[in-house]
Amino acid sequence: MIIPREASLTKAQLEEVRGIVAEFGCEIQEIVGAHRRVYAILGPETHEVMFNRLIGLPYVDRVDHIESGYRLLDRTSELARQELVLGGVALGTDPLFIAGPCTVDPEEPTLTLETAAAVREAGGHLLRGGVWKPRTRPYSYQGDSRALDTLLEARERTGLPLVVEVMDGDQLETALALGVDVLQVGARNALNYSLLKEIGRRTAGSETWVLLKRSLSMGPVDEFLSAAEYLAAAGNPRLLLCPRGTAPALDGYRNHPDESIAQLLKEKSWAPVVGDPSHATGRAAYVPAAALAALAYGADGLALEAHVHPPRGIGDDPKQALDPETLHDTLARARAFWELLHPHKVPA
Ligand code: PEP
Ligand code: MN
Repeated sequence: MIIPREASLTKAQLEEVRGIVAEFGCEIQEIVGAHRRVYAILGPETHEVMFNRLIGLPYVDRVDHIESGYRLLDRTSELARQELVLGGVALGTDPLFIAGPCTVDPEEPTLTLETAAAVREAGGHLLRGGVWKPRTRPYSYQGDSRALDTLLEARERTGLPLVVEVMDGDQLETALALGVDVLQVGARNALNYSLLKEIGRRTAGSETWVLLKRSLSMGPVDEFLSAAEYLAAAGNPRLLLCPRGTAPALDGYRNHPDESIAQLLKEKSWAPVVGDPSHATGRAAYVPAAALAALAYGADGLALEAHVHPPRGIGDDPKQALDPETLHDTLARARAFWELLHPHKVPA
């Protein structure tokens, strides 16, 4: 990875760098970070002569060679130095709370609008809501683009940025055209490398974030980080890593709760982590405890399913969505717990 002396390379400098690496069969991918640009070398980047020519350039500060398969997401990467702000929250300094229905019912917009108001009232920072749903059975409700209109109205009323899952290129284009703030890649697509590359490419250099869920079948933590690296390597390092439980399920739970993986992820990568106790446990009654556990293991925030009236919801909401009162209470306790875990330094 090439780190320039200034915040970015000029066009002419970039051309020169591209020319050098091309001689060695490599390409340059520009990565637009929060404060500066870095330039990933794609291809056999270990060539010593190429390396020496690059570090000899007067406008290059250094060339980092990180061995890991997720060199951009690695803790030692230059990107680790960026300060990340999403939904008005400085990640790592304050906890990030995402909440909202599993599935937005396009026939009942009031339910989503009232849920959004409850999320805001509880102190949530972003509104999640499923428009297109990955369902196990083809005959279950699959989603409806009209649900996006409801979410846009909810954003207009509450000011909360939106988190929406996309599963293919058409949904991606629709979501981008309507200014969705955070694209979710769900558990079923977390290993869909073509989709990850397409999303990374289409959102390169933009303000759009991506929330990547952990796949049900992901084993080693490196597999999750490598999937996230696809997004960064394609140009978008604005990522949230979201453990959401894996298969096989722990007896009595929907999945195998995996909030403890936050600790491993944080050790290896700078990327922020948000726990998803709703999908990990699958039962509203278990969500508050698992939410605190995720924070204890080092998560930077939480993504919670919430609904103004869970029994009237579709998808996961009847089982696992928190009602407004429980959401409020859970976020209040999560904030208090965060203070305990990360006491803010009081100026002397
Ligand atoms: C969801 O967030 O509602 C969802 C479908 O998530 P996952 O991909 O984790 O199952
Ligand atoms: Mn859900």
